[in-house]
This record gives sequence, C-alpha cells and structure tokens, in this order.
Amino acid sequence: MLEKGLADTLKESKYTVVLSGLAMAVESGYPAFRDDDESYDIEEAYGYSVDELYSSVVYNTRPELFYRFYRETFLKRIETGPGAAFYYLAQMQQKGMVDSIITRRVFKLAERAGCKNVINLYGSVYDYKCSHCGQKFTVEDILKSKKIVPLCPKCNVMIRPGVVLFGEMVDNAVMTEAVEEVEKADVLLVLGANMNSTLVSKMRPYYKGNKLIVITPDEHFSEYDANMVIHSSIADGLKQFL
Ligand SMILES: [Zn+2]
Repeated sequence: MLEKGLADTLKESKYTVVLSGLAMAVESGYPAFRDDDESYDIEEAYGYSVDELYSSVVYNTRPELFYRFYRETFLKRIETGPGAAFYYLAQMQQKGMVDSIITRRVFKLAERAGCKNVINLYGSVYDYKCSHCGQKFTVEDILKSKKIVPLCPKCNVMIRPGVVLFGEMVDNAVMTEAVEEVEKADVLLVLGANMNSTLVSKMRPYYKGNKLIVITPDEHFSEYDANMVIHSSIADGLKQFL
C-alpha cells in the first residue's frame, strides 16, 4: 500500500508515467477486437481471425482483404471518442500531475483529447506512407481514395498504414523512448490494463519505483503486487483528482 492517498502521491510525484491500456479505448467506445463476440463476428464476415487479418502476412499477400477489413473495422471508427478519461488525463497533465503516456492503441485518443508527450508504441491509423518513396499521407487521403488498396500517385505502390501489425516488431527508437520514460517514473499509473497485459508486462520491468497504481474496471489476479488498486470506471477513478 501507499503511505499517502493517491491524490497526494500524484501531486508529489516527480515524474508520473501513464500506461494506457485496452479498457481506456473500450471506455471511449472502441470495441476490443479480440473479445469473443467481436472476433467471432469478424471471423464470420471475413473468413479469417482478427490476428490473421491484421497481420503483415495478410497485408503483404492479400492487400485487398487486409484493406477491406482495415477500412471496415479500424477506419470506420476514427470519429469515435475520446472518452472522458482521456480529457481528465489531459487536465491532469496541465496541472503537472501526469508527465507522459504510453499506449499500444492506435487511435491517438490521448492526443485527440489534448494530451501531450504520448508514445504510440504501435503507431497510429492517422499516419501513412508509400512503402517505396516514403511520401507521407493522411487518413483523409486514404478515405478519399477510390480503390480499396490505396496507391501512391507517384510510384503506384501500395500505401502502408503507420501501425505495427501482428508479426512485426515495435520500432526500436520508439521502444527506447518508452523505456526511458518508464525508467524516469516516480509513479507508474496503469489505466485500464492488468499486470499480465502485453503493455504492462513489456514496460514494467523498467520501472524502478514503488508507486505502481492501477485504475481499472475489472479485478484481475495479477494485481496483488501493485501498490494501489482502484476498481472503477477509469473516468470515475481519475475524476476524483481534479
Ligand atoms: Zn511513392
């Protein structure tokens, strides 16, 4: 347990890093694509699992299938959210209670709510580039393109979303940046993820402090060694500090 209450701990923290997990996106209105119901529907509609569809193998070998799935599930939702928790996070940042935010989600929810210093480990659906000449494109360019698979007007080569697909590695420079943030952290605030989630299990080994705080809706056995755990909606959990 923490010696002080959470509000005091955050106020006195020299450097607070947030790990923003899947439940943050779910609270913002995004489905968990790998949840049973959602993944069953996707598998039925496309004949492949989410992991297969969102993979570098399908992107490289069946780009039409990849882009159909990507457009119908990912791009359809770019107007959704951000949820209240992200706006609270932005306010906390303005008050100096939060320094940086690390996430695996690709919808830039934190930035869209006004957060700064966000590390998107897996890239974002807002960034695109030609895999040949490197020219950059926006999500609007992709939405406007008449072909399912968007092509670079200069090279006629497929334009690639700036996301890390299944089967690919997180960019080294981005990973290093995230690790350095976590190493600096006095408080590590885990929002909407359990200790066994990919995000937390990848980042936690670099945390040197003893103020690991979890705010998440669902209980999980992995939380036993966190220093403080709050089970509530993340928005409700954060609201009390403002
Ligand atoms: Zn090009």
